[in-house]
Amino acid sequence: MTQAVDSADSVDPRALEALNRYFGYDSFRPGQSGIVSAILAGRDVLGVMPTGAGKSICYQIPAAILPGVAIVISPLISLMRDQVDALNDVGLPAAFINTTQTPDEQDLVFAQALSGQIKLLYVAPERLETERFRNFAVRVPISLVAVDEAHCVSQWGQDFRSSYLGIGEFIAGLPTRPTVAAFTATATERVRRDIVSILGLHTPSITVTGFDRPNLYFDVISMPRKDKASWVASYIASHPDESGIVYCATRKETEALAESLNSAVAELRAAGGADVSDIGTIAVAYHGGMSADAREKAQRDFVTDRVPVVVATNAFGMGIDKSNVRFVIHHNMPESIEAYYQEAGRAGRDGEPSRCTLLWNESDIVTRRRLLDSDYENERLTPEEQEAVRASKRRLLDAMVGYCRTTDCLHAYMTRYFGETAGAAAKTDGKCVGGCANCEHTFETIDVTDIARAISRCVHDVNQHVGSGKIVKVLRGSKAQDLSYLNPESLLSFGMLDEVPEARIRDVLSQMATDGFLTIAEGRLPIVGFG
Ligand code: ADP
Repeated sequence: MTQAVDSADSVDPRALEALNRYFGYDSFRPGQSGIVSAILAGRDVLGVMPTGAGKSICYQIPAAILPGVAIVISPLISLMRDQVDALNDVGLPAAFINTTQTPDEQDLVFAQALSGQIKLLYVAPERLETERFRNFAVRVPISLVAVDEAHCVSQWGQDFRSSYLGIGEFIAGLPTRPTVAAFTATATERVRRDIVSILGLHTPSITVTGFDRPNLYFDVISMPRKDKASWVASYIASHPDESGIVYCATRKETEALAESLNSAVAELRAAGGADVSDIGTIAVAYHGGMSADAREKAQRDFVTDRVPVVVATNAFGMGIDKSNVRFVIHHNMPESIEAYYQEAGRAGRDGEPSRCTLLWNESDIVTRRRLLDSDYENERLTPEEQEAVRASKRRLLDAMVGYCRTTDCLHAYMTRYFGETAGAAAKTDGKCVGGCANCEHTFETIDVTDIARAISRCVHDVNQHVGSGKIVKVLRGSKAQDLSYLNPESLLSFGMLDEVPEARIRDVLSQMATDGFLTIAEGRLPIVGFG
């Protein structure tokens, strides 16, 4: 597998011309042109880009240029009509086949495709298993099979769909193998490997890009639960003309917080000398349990700037296009970096400086772990598979916890997590572009190598039999009872890092695991071994 590297001089002139003609853009975003060129050269690709980064263009441009029809596999029937209408509007003939059509309507689309009148044909994965579609597919020249939301093929991610498992077989059954292009916003290595093997990609060119958002300032603040509401109120009070989203973990919390913000923010502003006689509503709640009418009103009030702040569960955001969101505050820690990135990334779509703040505390972690161990039931999966899914979710959560605890640049943490290399998280004068709380604060600089050496020594001292929490305790010279069976004071590494903050040690430890020097066992006990 290789990483496609973008270079300006490799842009295919046909691709640029199509980009301009159909979409009116002058240049590709990073990553796009490499993917387009690879597809045009007949090479399979895997594109990993966040939502909104521009994945669609990566297959729509080759579909416009290559002879034949491109089959686009997409799980969301509800979005197909919009996508197809938009393409036809710009002069790219497209159609869909789905369950909302009569057999006659479907036959018409098949006939148009067979006579070369359609460049892109959108279908849901279930469609590929039908006799009618297979009969059609073997007769039409297919330029490209593009698989959207390709992570649905993997049981190790969040949104497994069994219908995705048939895609590989469908492709294998075609008389000539077309180029296959898969796209996802999911980062984990395991899911990427599944995409490649289950879809049967042939030595794909893998491109990961678009994850750094240089106009966003990232901030992580650890604080007790009882202080969070007043922190949010004073933030909003001191940013009076800004629009923002506050994400909460539960529906009840959104309502309680929205209500308390309305009075608290008005009081704070009045105390600051502002005239609050016609201040109006500051915050509205939004969650999936509200009636459709109430949700729609809350959304409209927010999008039209009648109400500056929405306090929402993660149900809010899908399909909402508001570019001037100046801040996104997370009242609790989300379940994964993917989820956090998607929600926080709703700030600053217009490219203007915006702020993403995550409020968390240790009990958020405990709550998340408990939910994960108790909640997950899926009757389609065997007990072993369920345990594997849980283990995978635990890993996602660990990375999220790592983000809360890291003392490293938050932009760098994020882009490294998503596996992005080229051009990621640029820095000037030791600070990241866009900024983050960690680059701004100066942490005590203790040589990481010394910490890493001490950690290795400790893993050796305890014969690779001990979890990461205890390793940190040993290194800090803890007198905790639960260490006594190790006879810690006899260990060379005991107290070796008694001056170093716990968070710093954890940080280096997880970095060593990421880099492959150490392994951390999956499951309840994160036993640390050598990689
Ligand atoms: P994704 O599928 O990754 O979520 P989309 O393909 O829907 O993202 O693209 C998001 C937005 O970015 C769209 O409005 C699209 O027109 C725009 N866009 C994509 N590529 C470019 C580009 N090269 N230049 C400017 N805008 C672009």
